[in-house]
Amino acid sequence: MNAPARNLPLPDSRPASSGCLNAPVLREHGQREVFCGLTGIVWMHRKIQDAFFLIVGSRTCAHLMQSAAGVMIFAEPRFGTAIIDERDLAGLADANAELDKVVERLLKRRSDIKLLFLVGSCPSEVIKLDLSRAAQRLSRRYMPDVRVLNYSGSGIETTFTQGEDACLASLVPELPEADANGPPSLLVVGALSDIVEDQFRRLFTDLGIASVDFLPPRKSSMLPAIGPRTRCLLAQPFLSDTARALDERGGLYLPAVFPLGAEGTTLWLKAAAEAFDVPPDRFNRVIAQPEARARRALEHHHEILASKRLFLFPDSQLEPCLARFLSRELDMNIVEVGTPYLNRTHLAGELALLPEGTRLSEGQDVDRQLDRCREEKPDLVVCGLGLANPLEAEGMTTKWSIETVFTPIQGYEQAGDLAEIFARPLRRRQRLEV
Ligand code: SF4
Repeated sequence: MNAPARNLPLPDSRPASSGCLNAPVLREHGQREVFCGLTGIVWMHRKIQDAFFLIVGSRTCAHLMQSAAGVMIFAEPRFGTAIIDERDLAGLADANAELDKVVERLLKRRSDIKLLFLVGSCPSEVIKLDLSRAAQRLSRRYMPDVRVLNYSGSGIETTFTQGEDACLASLVPELPEADANGPPSLLVVGALSDIVEDQFRRLFTDLGIASVDFLPPRKSSMLPAIGPRTRCLLAQPFLSDTARALDERGGLYLPAVFPLGAEGTTLWLKAAAEAFDVPPDRFNRVIAQPEARARRALEHHHEILASKRLFLFPDSQLEPCLARFLSRELDMNIVEVGTPYLNRTHLAGELALLPEGTRLSEGQDVDRQLDRCREEKPDLVVCGLGLANPLEAEGMTTKWSIETVFTPIQGYEQAGDLAEIFARPLRRRQRLEV
């Protein structure tokens, strides 16, 4: 990374400490219970409006996508599956020729597609179908009308948010070169809902940061430029490969806490403001009202969440940020924070703000984690869909962690909604017990 980590400002009311920055991490290597990277298509296809995600996979992959994203009846879907069948698996058919035919049929019928992702899966990796060569071949054939890229969404990766990381990393080589002598620009990296993106854009404008782009863009024709004058601010904590690719293109990484909650959003904006020399009084003036609104929205959920014990299973990679938000802004007690993968550089600010002594685990060994969870008897468990029902049957209160990826949760205006996600199951349990 180009920029050294720097100490993040802490709110005045809290004592400065290194929290869990240097805390030991329990590393787990066992059975995993997570969705695969194909799941990222559910939110990515809504974000890049002229893109199509063609999964090169099996009927299982197609079923996963249909149940995760729903079947679109009135709109033309912007994802689909080129099915690898028994003949492909047995090596009886030329999978590349079949794929070319599928792409030809698709692009003939859909002139709105300007960016086509070939998304690899477990089956395509098993038959060693080289999708990167296929993408190059098809790009040569269909450019300049359609750009064809590829990435892997297979379940062999650690968890489902890696799908977004792999997708964005595949876009980075396509970004145009920024003018090395131009003014510095800000690149916000990570898929945000349009409404959140618009709110942040307004805040950056009010701060006086003139040149702001988002990756991914809403249209493939709006790919942002990258170069040594580009400051990259991650909006999601699971973008290790994308950040590395941006670094190789000269982008300057801005260390920051992620924009979850009132405090998290202020610290995230502050990282950008400091990089662009925004005067502190201007910064304070711009954030004062929205930050106060966010704090008021959180008050509504404080009573139900405060002092409750929380156990987070590794699933979305958002877990350390959620734990920081819930412990510092809603006074929850964190029992364990599991995450599939812990990027200590990107999460340094988050770890520093976690209460000292919080148990951290990286990777998954589901049986051992279930044993620890049962022993602790937490008030709320955040976990994947596969674990939620069995734990509810055992009398625990759960929340699907995938909801934090599907819902707009970043920024001041969404802080209350984020708290509501965790308050809702506790309120439901309370009503059942009355
Ligand atoms: S990519 Fe692998 S894990 Fe994901 S649905 Fe397809 S077969 Fe299952």
